[in-house]
Amino acid sequence: MKFQPRASHFIDGEYVEDTNGAAIEVIYPATGEVIARLHSATPAIVEQALNSAKNAQAAWAALSGTERGRILRRASDIMRERNYDLSVLETHDTGKPIQETTVADATSGADALEYFGGLAASLTGEHIPLGGGDFVYTIREALGVCVGIGAWNYPTQIACWKGAPALACGNTMVFKPSETTPLSALKVAEILVEAGAPKGVYNVIQGYGDVGASLVSDPRVAKVSLTGSVPTGRKVYAAAADGMKHVTMELGGKSPMIVFDDADIENAVSGAILGNFYSSGQVCSNGTRVFVQKGIKEAFLKRLSERLAHAKTGDPMDEDVSFGPMVSENQMNITLGYIEKGKAEGARLVYGGERIERDGYFVQPTVFADVTDNMTIAREEIFGPVMSVLDFETEEEVMARANDTEFGLAAGVFTNDLTRAHRIVAGFEAGTCYINTYNLAPVEAPFGGSKMSGVGRENSKLAINHFSEMKTVYVSMNDVEAPY
Ligand code: NAD
Repeated sequence: MKFQPRASHFIDGEYVEDTNGAAIEVIYPATGEVIARLHSATPAIVEQALNSAKNAQAAWAALSGTERGRILRRASDIMRERNYDLSVLETHDTGKPIQETTVADATSGADALEYFGGLAASLTGEHIPLGGGDFVYTIREALGVCVGIGAWNYPTQIACWKGAPALACGNTMVFKPSETTPLSALKVAEILVEAGAPKGVYNVIQGYGDVGASLVSDPRVAKVSLTGSVPTGRKVYAAAADGMKHVTMELGGKSPMIVFDDADIENAVSGAILGNFYSSGQVCSNGTRVFVQKGIKEAFLKRLSERLAHAKTGDPMDEDVSFGPMVSENQMNITLGYIEKGKAEGARLVYGGERIERDGYFVQPTVFADVTDNMTIAREEIFGPVMSVLDFETEEEVMARANDTEFGLAAGVFTNDLTRAHRIVAGFEAGTCYINTYNLAPVEAPFGGSKMSGVGRENSKLAINHFSEMKTVYVSMNDVEAPY
């Protein structure tokens, strides 16, 4: 099999296998063909990975930030050089079109390695002068062994978004990719070793939820960073709390996108397309509740349908294809189930709404109009190419409705009224907001959710605070005054 890795796991700088672990079949979602067979980690593999990360950590943290950063930046260069091959792998792992993977996956992973590699040498504590000559200094310290657990939509990106800041701060990592897309993270581990990362600094083990759970509860682990759904987030956060571990939670969403009458309609339609159909809708921050002001509603829907007719479905390896399959048969069936609910609950289907008849797990880009706030498709995260268009009249009304959700990952507004745009984003209960665009996530900017959508932030300088902690050192320059 062309995409079969040398073994399932990458531990202590080497590929490792244990065939006693449960089988994991890797399926190319465009055809249903099995492209690799792996094994879930056994307790012995989990043990080996955690020991390796634990043993490597002190020496890694003892390197200067400049040295650690150089290795990360070298890994970034290698990823960029191999972008096409990595993208081919990512396309087979996820089904996302090569048109997308060549610009959004290994490249975004490389950005993270480059950015945090660049920051590594400047991670310091501070000097705090006190009265009478005393002072405090702080030492920024690594947390220790960090666990990363990934979702299946951006496997390379997630492996790097977690690994790069963790390693920059002097931590080591055990990363568990999603069982649905286990291949790319192994390449990230290989590349880091090639770039000079010492053995054990970045390990990858495969597995289902039980393997993730055994990592989270292990006392050697200081921090857990999860990208996944809210139900998994609740479990992982609770288990981490038991051991008082640090957490970052990047979870699901049902984000609003508001389009006012005065918006540039072409840009608003582009934003709605990017925020609903890129990666076949399998993006956590998608703006799936599109509130369109009544005056432009029909024009918006007409233009949207015209533009969607240009989406090209087909073999994701064809560079002209812009719309690929869902990641798995299961995810396709979940999505088709929501589409049926939308129809049954009275939403008006204006585009798509069916499975695409060909091999693989393709669902048409689907748009429902006249969606109301209580319909299931407007309340639950679908994680598929299904857009709900809701009408609104006033700013006050739409603000309240946009925030009426347990989620708070992202939110966007399209308007040409500058003051209204800033007023709206100030009112959004969401961690990542957009004005006149949608779904961009540059490494320089914090990314993450509020409310049930998450805890902590990835990317930007803020991520450093989530992968390190401060030691406070009080220094007295005076005699010690004791009361007796
Ligand atoms: P999921 O929650 O089913 O699984 C995520 C990961 O957690 C997988 O690796 C899985 O094996 C592991 N896992 C499951 N149970 C576990 C447990 N008890 N303990 C430890 N690990 C466990 O999510 P998914 O279906 O892979 O991904 C889709 C979800 O991820 C969506 O809700 C989406 O919104 C979210 N997501 C969020 C972001 C973000 O940055 N906020 C990005 C991508 C995806």
